Parts: sequence; C-alpha cells; structure tokens
Amino acid sequence: MPDTPADPPKTQMVNCHVHTFTTDHTPLYFPAWPVAIFRYVPGLARFFRWLSSFTPYDKVTDFLARMEAFHRTGSRSSQRAVFRELLHYYPKDTRFVVLPMDMELIGHGPVNEDIFAQHDGLARLAADPDYGPQVIPFATIYPDRPGAAEEVRRCVDELGFRGLKIYTKLGFAPDHPVLMEEVYPFCVERNIPVMSHCSRGGVYHKGWLQYRQDQVTEPRAYETVLNRFPDLRLCLAHFGGDQDWISLLRDGFDPDDPQARDKNWVSVIEEMIRSGNYPNLYTDISYTIFKFDNHISLLRMYLKDSRLRERVLFGSDFYMTRQEALSEKAVSIKLRDALGEEDFHAIAHDNPRRWLGES
Ligand SMILES: [Zn+2]
Repeated sequence: MPDTPADPPKTQMVNCHVHTFTTDHTPLYFPAWPVAIFRYVPGLARFFRWLSSFTPYDKVTDFLARMEAFHRTGSRSSQRAVFRELLHYYPKDTRFVVLPMDMELIGHGPVNEDIFAQHDGLARLAADPDYGPQVIPFATIYPDRPGAAEEVRRCVDELGFRGLKIYTKLGFAPDHPVLMEEVYPFCVERNIPVMSHCSRGGVYHKGWLQYRQDQVTEPRAYETVLNRFPDLRLCLAHFGGDQDWISLLRDGFDPDDPQARDKNWVSVIEEMIRSGNYPNLYTDISYTIFKFDNHISLLRMYLKDSRLRERVLFGSDFYMTRQEALSEKAVSIKLRDALGEEDFHAIAHDNPRRWLGES
C-alpha cells in the first residue's frame, strides 16, 4: 500500500554505538573498572545489594543493583550472549554498530582473549544466522601493536567489517603515524567511517593523568586528521561527554576568559560542525543522553541547526549504560517522544546511513 502524504517516513533505527566485549577482553587489574573485583567473587555484588536492602538508603541499593546488572552483562560467556541481551530493548529491524576494544597493552595486566580473537568473535556474531543481520561490525586498533594496520585490513577485507573504532586515551594520539600513513588513507579508500571516543571519562592508559588523557581526546586534537583527510567520515562519540554537558548547563562560560568556550568539548564540537570546515565530522549522543532530563532540551536546541541536525548520530553505549537508571528502551522511547518523528528519523535513520556510507 502506498504511503499517504501524511505518513511520517518509516524509521529503521541504527544504534551507532554499542559494545559486546566481555571480561575476557578486559585487563585483569584495571583499577577504575567499577566492578573488577567482582570478577572473582561472582556473588559479591548480589550479596552487597541484599545487605543494603536492609538500610534505609534506597539510592545505595539502586546503585548496587545497577552495578550488578553491569557486571552480569560484562561477564556473559560470549559476545553473542551480550548482544542477545541488547536485543531486548529495540525493535526487531534495528541494526547496531558493534565496537571492540584492545586493552591488552595499556598497562593494566593481561587479557584472556587478545584483539585478534575478539575480532574473530565479532565476525562470528556478524555471521550468526539469527542475530548477524543486525550486526554492523567495526575493527579497532592500538597503533603501537606490531601488525596493527594489517589487522585492520584483515578485518575489512577478509572479515567484512564496516568501520574502525579508535580509543586514544588507551595510549596514543589521533595523529599517530600508523594512523596517518596507513590507516586513515585505507579508511578513505574503502569508504568506511571512524568512531572515536570523545569524553573525559572511560578507560585510560596506566599512569596517564587527566590532562594527558585530555590532550589526545579533545575534539581539537582531531583537526590535523580532519584537515589532511577531508573525506574521512569521523564521529566524535558522546558529543564531548556528560561532564562537559553538565558543566555547560551548570556553570556556563566565564565572560572574562576568552578561551572559556574552547575548554568545553560540547561547545567545541558544536562550533567545529557548524563552522562548515569539516563537512564529514559527526558526533553521537551515546551515554550522554542517559542523563535524559538534564540534557534533552539542549539536544533539541542543537537539532534546530540545519548542520548539526545532519551530523548527530543516535547511539547508546550499551552495556556501559547498565550503570544508569534508565533502560535502553526507556531512553530511546523518551528520545523519540521528545524529539518528534522527524528529528528522531534524522539521527537514528538518515544520518547513520550517510555516516556508514550506505546512502
Ligand atoms: Zn563506548
């Protein structure tokens, strides 16, 4: 039956930012990993929650319940099992960009499964008869690993991966020579996008203080890359991160500090996209949007700008979001309701397809 003119376009969502790696891919001693110790005592989280239920502090119980859910998801036996859990929250025709991580060489101890095995596991998930069609697999790279660029080529050419994830605060700059000389040119040639972690939180190289992490993560650190590879479709994930969203809304900008706006990553990303100087620069709202009530109004305002409206991608950051109160389903429904069909269609349907090179 043909669509009547009043019908809104049918939205087949693409969630541009999810994870399926497990504790097998996480270093043994990563200290800030919120629930690392629970790995050895699987019942510990449940025990604490049970204990806290006798206290009058609902917030503690609630927090521990979320930590327990996060731990439970991360300790699934396979990437397929984690992915299966994600599928609870989305319409059946949703597709997901799945982003691996290479944390073996970041100084926090060994991992059970190296990145080659993690990529192979993701390729198996993408070939799964039940769930495979919903998986858009990305490779990742730690450029100082011997054979790093070759592994990216293997993932794309042999395993059929569709993009690349980089996570610079694990220990390298976005203009690392391996990336500049081999990997970005390859991405442009193969017409595949790059996703990059862009918030002050997250995993980092052992011993790297916040300022060092920020140096390689801040949006302006990508200017060299964007200037040299104007055709590279790059997404700065998390739209600068929830800390900078909170700071922008709570503190605003010091009128006597000419650099004030440049210190806030949300403001910098907004400015970089609106400038028109980087026509293939994107950002996603993953994790950040789980602080829904605080951030939705600013997002709605940003989407009124025609350039930003074409460059914001829907993503969630499952299963990191297991640490938050709202479920993936609650957030995507609230988001759709608050943005309205047209804007939601732009960020969850049209923009992801353009970024992935499908349209
Ligand atoms: Zn993420």
